[in-house]
Amino acid sequence: MTDKFVLENREEILAELYPEDVLKLSSKLTDGEVEFLRQMVELLETKYRKDLNKHWYNNEVPEGFFEDMGELGYFTNPLLYQERELLQGTSQMFQFFFAFTLSRFDVSLNTLIGVHSGLGFNSFLLGGSKEQVEKYIPALATHQLRTCFALTEPNHGSDVAWGLETTAERRGDKWIINGEKRWIGGANVADVIPVYARDVETGKPRGFIVKREQEGVEIDVIEGKTSLKIVPNCNIKLTNVEVAEEDRLQKIERFRDIAMILYSTRAGVAHMAAGTMAGALQATLRYVKEREQFGNKISSYQLVQEKLAMMQVNVTNAMSLSAHIAELQENGSYDEVVSSIGKMSNALRLRETVSLGRGICGGNGILVENDIARFFADAEAVYTYEGTHEINALVVGRAMTGEAAFN
Ligand SMILES: Cc1cc2nc3c(=O)[nH]c(=O)nc-3n(C[C@H](O)[C@H](O)[C@H](O)COP(=O)(O)OP(=O)(O)OC[C@H]3O[C@@H](n4cnc5c(N)ncnc54)[C@H](O)[C@@H]3O)c2cc1C
Repeated sequence: MTDKFVLENREEILAELYPEDVLKLSSKLTDGEVEFLRQMVELLETKYRKDLNKHWYNNEVPEGFFEDMGELGYFTNPLLYQERELLQGTSQMFQFFFAFTLSRFDVSLNTLIGVHSGLGFNSFLLGGSKEQVEKYIPALATHQLRTCFALTEPNHGSDVAWGLETTAERRGDKWIINGEKRWIGGANVADVIPVYARDVETGKPRGFIVKREQEGVEIDVIEGKTSLKIVPNCNIKLTNVEVAEEDRLQKIERFRDIAMILYSTRAGVAHMAAGTMAGALQATLRYVKEREQFGNKISSYQLVQEKLAMMQVNVTNAMSLSAHIAELQENGSYDEVVSSIGKMSNALRLRETVSLGRGICGGNGILVENDIARFFADAEAVYTYEGTHEINALVVGRAMTGEAAFN
């Protein structure tokens, strides 16, 4: 247990850090967590704000970003452990505000971190043996190693559990992997790639730790994206890739194990959607306070204020849902249905919110130089990944009716 960090002027800092938090949900954060988030915002604003839209337009990851986030230590910083043990991990409330705050700045950057620290990290943490956890988790937590998550395939997105085509064939103490993966965020820079494939003998899904540089692995970045342009999403071709049995993720035995990794991180996407809404709100507020029409600031018009209020209501609802989900995660009562409701609800409201903001900003709202255009475009990918609206609805519907409308 580390010494308790005490924040001077906590109220003022929180009011400045989270002006959209009208329900004061951020009061649930510890002083150390607030200080960490304050430092992160300072880093983002001073180092990455200036060229953010240019990076987005040019599909490029800002140099040094992954390393800077590793140095901040969002898994390991003692500020995050002032009231908890290192083994417990950071608090779920912190994880909500971390994703919220980073997405409010830029959701591509959060996606890059999220695929490493969420789906990728949890493939090792939940799918790995004790030895694999000990070998990989410390290096992944400190960003010494980079990972991603390779499940989706060219012909199988929503139905990947049912249709997984990538094959794994056991030959003695090694496996031979063949197949293709699509949309894999950050695969081109990952050191280790958890690849999911079907065991040709048993038909069951398995997970494998594939090295980016190894023979038979070809990676190309998908060109022409209009959403989350900073994130390099990749195709991976696997041709007779050899993986030792000891590099098979030992706890992945059926699709349920992969689904657990997916739903353990789906709350993170709900938090990202809440943050993206808040980013859109901030961008819109900046605009309406400057833009004049009919001789007045457009912020003074009733119809504009009604739309701003709608955006604020959506942010407020999304934040409360996320905060409550974080509490359920913390006390162990989070489940797949909660994860789907969180993602479905916040992503749906996100689309509405960015659209309202984009409309308020008029023609300038489609120009990349104005942040709202970026949030507007990025909302579409958030709406689709980690389970589309329809697939999450089917998870909820299955729980409500007892009838599975999908496999
Ligand atoms: C930016 C981005 C990043 C991503 N990153 C990763 C990653 O890092 N790793 C990874 O493995 N994957 C990743 N994905 C893949 C993502 O998870 C899939 O896009 C998602 O699962 C949807 O699959 P799909 O795009 O193939 O759409 P499809 O599955 O083809 O769906 C198309 C439409 O049909 C609907 N639909 C499908 N089945 C049904 C049904 N039974 N009933 C009603 N409607 C249905 C869907 O809801 C959707 O509207 C990423 C995707 C994007 C866009």
